[in-house]
Amino acid sequence: MNDRVFSYYGINKDSPEWRDWKWQYENRITTASELSKIITLNEQEMQDISSCLKGFRMAITPYFASLIDPDDRVCPIKMQAVPSINETHIHPWENRDPLNEESASPVPNVVHRYPDRVLFLVTRQCATYCRHCIRKRHVGEEDFVISEEEKNNAIKYISETKQIRDVLISGGDPLTMSDNALEDIISKLRAIDHVDIIRIGTRIPVTMPMRITPGLLAMLRRYHPIWINTHFNHPRELAPDAVAACESIVDAGIPLGNQSVLLRNINDDADTMKELLLKLVKARIRPYYIYQCDLCEGIGHFRTKVETGIEILKSLNGYISGLAVPKFVIDAPGGGGKIPINPDYVVSLDDEKIVMLNYLGDAYAYPQP
Ligand SMILES: *Cc1c(COP(=O)(O)O)cnc(C)c1O
Ligand code: SF4
Repeated sequence: MNDRVFSYYGINKDSPEWRDWKWQYENRITTASELSKIITLNEQEMQDISSCLKGFRMAITPYFASLIDPDDRVCPIKMQAVPSINETHIHPWENRDPLNEESASPVPNVVHRYPDRVLFLVTRQCATYCRHCIRKRHVGEEDFVISEEEKNNAIKYISETKQIRDVLISGGDPLTMSDNALEDIISKLRAIDHVDIIRIGTRIPVTMPMRITPGLLAMLRRYHPIWINTHFNHPRELAPDAVAACESIVDAGIPLGNQSVLLRNINDDADTMKELLLKLVKARIRPYYIYQCDLCEGIGHFRTKVETGIEILKSLNGYISGLAVPKFVIDAPGGGGKIPINPDYVVSLDDEKIVMLNYLGDAYAYPQP
């Protein structure tokens, strides 16, 4: 807990302001000089931050800032929220739109890549901007509000496309919107017969858990089945407020999943990942995906070798509850979609039998029928 945050704002953890998500949102830290009041920064770091902000804005909620260790240069929370000069190093294989979402977009703000489900991008705002964000090409344009016309066109596409049975509301972060704005979208989707489930992708439980209010949950539960996927990357993010927010989501009957990104020097070792996954399950959050970091411009310093993810998965399979083990996927550059990458347990497979290794590396055979 970073107490400098509380003295900077002149409040404490029990102040009504602190518990008010609108206060958290309005008081986000957006400049290097504000940040320097809260964490230790030298002159060079302040300059670096300012030059990065031209590329992708910074915003950190006071709550998320309070999780930063103010004197740790490589604090895992800091590295996700505070710009590094590495962001200005753009490699030739990197791209603004690494997953080719624009070309899979039949109408603005909808990405339709898989047969039965779509992404519906409803906002470009987030409570805290992740330095590893892969939608930087539009995320952070805070004056963008989806127009009535764009919203209706997207909903019209979904209602006319009968094979869509799953709509994933994403952005930006949909939970930065007001309950009413969100309800307008969700109720229109719920009125479409062939839409079975509505999913919300949000990092709010991690970066601004006070947004998960009883009012929001009461609204959401009127439109079940609703699922939420969130985005914890490090065990330290599972602070008491975040855990309480997640538990209240699950108590509202909303299954909660988690998508992590493998990030170099943040969570790319088996012990950190194991601790994260076990804490998630304990908070009733189901680990869903671990993503290999995408080839988005300016996030190359977060990338790990593919073998790292495979080795981490090997250290999980069999050792901890299957419930705590997510799929490891690479979202294929150019728009191929998510491809699961698994450790290889098969030694041989022919008409007679399969020979395979268990998690300890011992060989077993299973005869073919
Ligand atoms: C990730 C993603 C989805 C959802 O995929 P699931 O594997 O069902 O979670 C849908 N559409 C697009 C474009 C995506 O990138
Ligand atoms: S919350 Fe999601 S969309 Fe927003 S900055 Fe982070 S990764 Fe990007």
